[in-house]
Amino acid sequence: MAPAESHRAALSFPSSNAKTGPIAVSSTSRLTCPSSCPLAGDQGCYAEAGFRTRLQWDRLSRGESGLPAAAFIKQVLALPAGILFRHCVAGDQWPEPANPLRIDQGLLLQLAKATRHLRAAWSYTHFPMGPANQATLRLAAAQGLVINASTESRSVAAGLQRQGIPVVCVVPPDAPAVFRHQGVRFVACPASRRGRGGRKIQCISCGGRWGLPLCAVAARSFVITFPAHGALAAAAAHHCS
Ligand code: SF4
Repeated sequence: MAPAESHRAALSFPSSNAKTGPIAVSSTSRLTCPSSCPLAGDQGCYAEAGFRTRLQWDRLSRGESGLPAAAFIKQVLALPAGILFRHCVAGDQWPEPANPLRIDQGLLLQLAKATRHLRAAWSYTHFPMGPANQATLRLAAAQGLVINASTESRSVAAGLQRQGIPVVCVVPPDAPAVFRHQGVRFVACPASRRGRGGRKIQCISCGGRWGLPLCAVAARSFVITFPAHGALAAAAAHHCS
């Protein structure tokens, strides 16, 4: 079945996004967002909360910008070797046309293969983490594209982490930077706090001894936390457990 119009995606390099730094970033249409995302709309989605991001996302979602999936993948393939790529700053993974709660494995693996020349490539998803989507994440990671399961529940995050799935978890703004839950370590995204000497960490400078941005490390031993922030912080925190 042909990819749906919801597969439209837009690439930007170098990004002017203050959180990522000048890496390659992309967004996918709002139509990719699965109904399983509890933060959709005004429920805490940070992409909806940022004025500029939302305007660009609106245009992409109306089909006024970006490219169909196949052309987008060619753009990714043409990115300079050795750079960093964060996929889906807004939007989610491409769904199967016939099953909107399943990630389109074939299309995602095409994208993963197109990122092999990059230093690191990563993304996030709110698709339900049943066996089929977990298998897709493992296959994409084996090709070098690390998709993090996005969660709001520390227990769900801990369970996925124990199954070897890279996980991120939204936590209340006052959560500790490092804590344990059900025996699993949770560590705050360095961009959410000051680095040494007050230096602000961005995705481009994230990773320290790991040598890669933390979200791009598939085999890490901890869950990354994102303290709820921005205009919809209270709505996002409401979903944390
Ligand atoms: S943990 Fe690192 S790579 Fe992930 S969002 Fe934060 S700064 Fe970016």
